[in-house]
Amino acid sequence: MRLILLGAPGAGKGTQAKRIVAALGVPQISTGDILRQAVKDGTELGKKAEGYMKSGGLVPDEVMIPLVEERLAAPDAAGGYVLDGYPRTLAQAEALDAHLAAKRLPIAHVFGLAVTADAVLERLKQRVTEDGKAIQRADDNPETIRTRLEVYDRNTKPLIDYYRTKGLYREIDGRKEISEVWQDIQAVLEAK
Ligand code: AMP
Repeated sequence: MRLILLGAPGAGKGTQAKRIVAALGVPQISTGDILRQAVKDGTELGKKAEGYMKSGGLVPDEVMIPLVEERLAAPDAAGGYVLDGYPRTLAQAEALDAHLAAKRLPIAHVFGLAVTADAVLERLKQRVTEDGKAIQRADDNPETIRTRLEVYDRNTKPLIDYYRTKGLYREIDGRKEISEVWQDIQAVLEAK
């Protein structure tokens, strides 16, 4: 099953992606994780991406689209996956559609984790993982957080309508507790 998680930074995409992985056995494909690893390893990709990530901007579509297409072609993605943090622009969404249409592979659901801006700011100030361990990311500082939220509003939010029009968008109330959000996602996954 191919799934997409949409939502502002700090909406809980990573946390819910991990639940989906555990329940369905599909891999989580987090473009943020892929890019952070590339920066850490000092690869060409990492060098290209680092500046954009530090400022809270988006890594260009020309970099992201081929990167994700390559990842989707890996054997572990053959039975499905949950995309976490991709697509983030209309161009990425259209490229993904074209890529999947060529292979006749449909997207099952696009989950939109809806949260308020205030809640997101609070969560990002102190990012907390499910086991309660706080993790501060290099881009979780007030200046960058503001940019990332603006970038989300401008570039990614329009994808809600894009997927709604296609009948794939399922809005989930991301303000609820982690386990309640997961229950709501499960209800959609289990509905025939
Ligand atoms: P995330 O962990 O998903 O919040 O991503 C961290 C950073 O990686 C973002 O702020 C962007 O700079 C970059 N990034 C992740 N996914 C994408 C994407 N789909 N398109 C462009 N940039 C991305």
